[in-house]
Amino acid sequence: MGGPNLLNRVFDDTHKLLIGGHRVAAASGRSFETLNPATGEVLAKVAEAGVEDVDAAVRSARAAFEGAWGHMKASERGALLLKLAELIRRDEDELVRLESLDSGKPVSAIRRQDLPAVLDTLTYYAGMADKINGHVIPARPDALTYTVREPLGVVGAIIPWNFPLMIGMWKIAPALACGCTVVLKPAEITPLTALRIGELALEAGFPEGVLNVVPGFGKVAGQALVDHPDVDKVTFTGSPAVGRQILQGAAGNLKRVTLELGGKSANIVFPDADIDAAVKAAGAGIFFNTGQVCSAGSRILVHHSVHDEVVERLAARAQSTRIGDPLEASTAMGPLVSEVQMKRVLDYIEIGLNEGATLVTGGSRRGEAGYFVEPTVFAGVRHEMRISQEEIFGPVAAVLPFQDEEDALRIANGTAYSLAAGVWTGDIGRAHRFTRRLKAGTVWVNTYGPTDIRLPWGGARDSGFGREHGDAAIENFTEPKAVWINTGR
Ligand code: NAD
Repeated sequence: MGGPNLLNRVFDDTHKLLIGGHRVAAASGRSFETLNPATGEVLAKVAEAGVEDVDAAVRSARAAFEGAWGHMKASERGALLLKLAELIRRDEDELVRLESLDSGKPVSAIRRQDLPAVLDTLTYYAGMADKINGHVIPARPDALTYTVREPLGVVGAIIPWNFPLMIGMWKIAPALACGCTVVLKPAEITPLTALRIGELALEAGFPEGVLNVVPGFGKVAGQALVDHPDVDKVTFTGSPAVGRQILQGAAGNLKRVTLELGGKSANIVFPDADIDAAVKAAGAGIFFNTGQVCSAGSRILVHHSVHDEVVERLAARAQSTRIGDPLEASTAMGPLVSEVQMKRVLDYIEIGLNEGATLVTGGSRRGEAGYFVEPTVFAGVRHEMRISQEEIFGPVAAVLPFQDEEDALRIANGTAYSLAAGVWTGDIGRAHRFTRRLKAGTVWVNTYGPTDIRLPWGGARDSGFGREHGDAAIENFTEPKAVWINTGR
């Protein structure tokens, strides 16, 4: 088992920034605290990147891009990504624990879902690194004309707190496979695993400056990255409000931008579906990760003929969810990530009650310590209510009855978001009608929630634009260059 001091260091040290291959204090000397959401206690102190630090990180990323990294063979980049995967596997136990302590995610879920996804992402893009090809395009008889795909340069990656390791890797792995260099700005409430991944990348042999990690606050460190004139691309996952600010900031030097934002996804249940499976997946779809999932099935649309049955069974699932210490292997649901997030969720529960929705189960904070909220089910929700329109990002299901297909589609497509949707039916024709007519970047049929690095991921409207994963990510971090060689006739 490697990294033997990691967990001691978590508590003892101030975690420094990672710039140009070195752990450094913030230029200002400032630091901030990251808390354990299961207890509310301080977990660690972390150096707070400011404008100067972000500038240093971008300069080191630029130097690496122009230097060692830019000169490396693509297959060697792939081999380094595989080596990083090997080190993550070696330190799996500590990374799982660290992610859990910092984010409140249950260790069982990180081990089952996040870590395997991180490794899959790394191995997938490791294999892609030397397969980023151009084309010979026979445009003219008097010239050899072809394209090469070139890396964009320096990438600013800004990530949220709900899947720090996994979403971080969704950005880092393809960017590095393409030959870009990265400045990673983790969310201020979950900075620890990003720093550890940066250290492991150095141990794997990535040249200094290829991956820099600058924890700090969004308005300062994040904004500095977005505003920086020498950053070529910003890849962002977070809220629609910040997405809009990023787009404005990126206008300065016309950076390319990919935005993965929020959702208010519909999970639609028809009476001809396997109701057992639908209810189970609907519960997981909203309660997994304490509902802090951009594609959470937060609106459960149920045909009126099975509405009461589904509500009753969903409530039973909510009540039997094992809530507790995320470090316990048997815990299924941990706390919300922060006090702010807990208050936001409790406020929305209040709003739902005031709007006249029926609280079937849950609705309260659990315990005094930490930020636990009970899995909550509202029935009798109407489409225009705020709890049906706005992203809560917590374990709060809004169940809405519908009359027929048109009604279901009207409700499903009737929010500002467009990220994901699910439909449960035994009718293959209906399944196809819904995959066609649902406005969403991903549509699940008779399942809800899985993602795979091979499939494009992203949305439209308030859910953002652009796609991550698969080939799409290669296009995100490269650009074709047209070459024209005059051969004469
Ligand atoms: P957030 O937008 O507040 O923060 C995300 C990141 O942006 C953080 O690192 C933050 O420090 C940074 N940031 C904040 N202000 C900034 C600024 N002015 N300039 C640059 N960076 C800035 O979001 P959050 O609260 O951390 O995460 C929750 C949101 O993320 C939800 O809306 C959720 O739906 C969304 N999300 C989307 C996906 C997806 O794939 N579509 C995945 C996870 C989360």
